[in-house]
Amino acid sequence: MKVSVDQGLCIGCEACPALCPEVFQMYPNCDFAYAVTEDVSPELEDCVREAARTCPVEAISIEE
Ligand code: SF4
Repeated sequence: MKVSVDQGLCIGCEACPALCPEVFQMYPNCDFAYAVTEDVSPELEDCVREAARTCPVEAISIEE
């Protein structure tokens, strides 16, 4: 699975790093999230999917 965050859509709600901190973090001093790795390891796929479902602006893209 590959994941990316569209910083143009992200509103900085911090839901994705709360749900899946191994993959998502907030830029320091900035209200955007980013994916620390593009390639998601299998054991983290469920929380990445949950974060993508939870994101209020659908800024998280997944490629299975
Ligand atoms: S859940 Fe969506 S809007 Fe919230 S910080 Fe993550 S990418 Fe941004």
